[in-house]
Amino acid sequence: MIIVMKPGSTENDIKGVSRLLESHGLGVHISKGVERTIIGVIGDKRQLDGIPVELMPGVEKLVPIMESYKLASRTFKPEPSIIEVNGVKIGGRRLVMMAGPCAVESHDQIMEIAFAVKKAGAQFLRGGAYKPRTSPYSFQGLEEEGLKLLKEARDATGLLVISEVTCERAVEAADKYVDMFQIGARNAQNFQLLREVGRSRKPVLFKRGPSTTVEEWLNAAEYIMSEGNYNVVLCERGIRTFETSTRFTLDISAVPVVKSLSHLPIMVDPSHAAGKAQYVAPLSKAAIAAGADGLIIEVHPNPRCALSDAAQQLTPDAFDSLCGEIRKIAEIIGREF
Ligand code: PEP
Ligand code: MN
Repeated sequence: MIIVMKPGSTENDIKGVSRLLESHGLGVHISKGVERTIIGVIGDKRQLDGIPVELMPGVEKLVPIMESYKLASRTFKPEPSIIEVNGVKIGGRRLVMMAGPCAVESHDQIMEIAFAVKKAGAQFLRGGAYKPRTSPYSFQGLEEEGLKLLKEARDATGLLVISEVTCERAVEAADKYVDMFQIGARNAQNFQLLREVGRSRKPVLFKRGPSTTVEEWLNAAEYIMSEGNYNVVLCERGIRTFETSTRFTLDISAVPVVKSLSHLPIMVDPSHAAGKAQYVAPLSKAAIAAGADGLIIEVHPNPRCALSDAAQQLTPDAFDSLCGEIRKIAEIIGREF
């Protein structure tokens, strides 16, 4: 439920309502719009049964949130959220670029790629240390050793780092080394894991599952938020359809749809959607033109020799020229990069 305050309601009115909610064991989320303040009620609204909240000074009306996801909904928070990750804002005017290899493979590989993506304009270095591979016999990642290498690259370049966490043990380890957790497509409905990262306050890039609807995805994001972690950035990475010419089908419509249903920022991963390097640039440009807040792209110093996702990773040069094109699109749509 939300409580819509009247235009011109005072700070004291807002405080009065907040105190009332808190005294009934409820949490409060205040969104200050240009005209009105909206107070989001966190918790079981039945705590307020019989209490005439609508008669409190400054209150205009009480509005139930009809969606099954609450904290992630636009009703709860009408203004778009900007998630700040150690100084980089996701969801603001400036686009965010995360780039790096599918997997951290060695010290030299991650260092080389970190300097290259930084030079091209990325703010984040990505790299998988825990790799949820389709086959158990494929390279599974360097685990904590990989996280340490990411941290070294972070210290050397000043880039922020993001890495996927697949289980409680990975969350505990990654917490020490990374700026942002990534939840991968295969864990998009692993509700235990979502609750686990929800109990942390570290920002989370939350990828859509290949077979989840937007509504299921937002409900899954609610698992993270309902534990108190509101630092969630959504990421569309392609869904399973009947089409086989790309690895998955990038659901560009998810960008405006999510923006209308949720206040959370949304990024796009064209690499895993395309599965082939040649399609990454066009999909990236489409995503930014459609309103995505940024991209996460796989880049490898020598894609052909990559230990995972070799076909879809860009060379540093291809990534650099893509960044140049994104810069032009950003200018046309009134954003910066
Ligand atoms: C990845 O980012 O390397 C990855 C495995 O992505 P996804 O979870 O989208 O498949
Ligand atoms: Mn990959």
